Amino acid sequence: MKDDIALQNLCLHTHNIFCDGKEDINSLINNAVSQGITQIGISSHAPLKIKNKWSMELEQIDNYVIEIAQAKIKYHNKIEIFTALEIDYIKDKTYSFDFFRNKMSLDYTIGSIHLVSHPISKELWFIDGDKNNSVDNMNRIFDNNVRYAIENYFAQTREMIRSQKPDIIGHMDKVIMNIGHLFDPNSLWYRDEITKTLLEIKKHKVIVEANTRGLYKGKWNDTFPSKTILRQCLNMEIPITLSSDAHHSSELLLSYDKVRQELKEMGFMYLKGRINNKWGNFPI
Ligand SMILES: [Zn+2]
Ligand SMILES: [Zn+2]
Repeated sequence: MKDDIALQNLCLHTHNIFCDGKEDINSLINNAVSQGITQIGISSHAPLKIKNKWSMELEQIDNYVIEIAQAKIKYHNKIEIFTALEIDYIKDKTYSFDFFRNKMSLDYTIGSIHLVSHPISKELWFIDGDKNNSVDNMNRIFDNNVRYAIENYFAQTREMIRSQKPDIIGHMDKVIMNIGHLFDPNSLWYRDEITKTLLEIKKHKVIVEANTRGLYKGKWNDTFPSKTILRQCLNMEIPITLSSDAHHSSELLLSYDKVRQELKEMGFMYLKGRINNKWGNFPI
């Protein structure tokens, strides 16, 4: 039983100073070991062709892989470490997931949408960052049409799943974080977008992460995706994992106890983690 308990502490989605994280990979892992974490995925924001302040530089890819490989050796038997990336997808504007898979021998990929492309103007709306800026930009780019902006976010998510086949879908409904006050998440059109997206997730055997970052940063009152959507995952037998999307080791396990308890009460029994280079089930 002791092993089962220890295995609960996994986090497959973390950031470090190769992107917008606050700590180098070695300190992040060293501090993860002290917190009793057993599996950690290093998943910097993959390089983008578009200028931004949060993703890794393309020239850094080799150093990134080397640092993780060195950590795998150094912390052997103390913690399992995985080479991963959180990769954005914008049709015709981003490197393909295979581009990174071929260059880096990744253990897995997390597919996340942070920039929503307007289908005609091709302008990009950044869903994250400062709330007022994000709302202003959404209104400007999508002509005050919240529903249209959200529909495009989910259409882009589905296209990413179909064309790039990520292992994990990152913070699936994070689009709600900055503009959740502008629409009703119970409306039929929104629930329809969620269902269509979950069907695509199910079809392509993607794992949904229950991401706690909005909760512990005080930016949203639920996990990404919401408990409502996670319940739908359970009914559809879509596997989940739990992650904090930590940008510092002090965030690695934040909101874990609360969310783990809620997942158990919902009826989830397992979280996906890695066993012998494959996905396996770990008791929650
Ligand atoms: Zn993200
Ligand atoms: Zn992230």
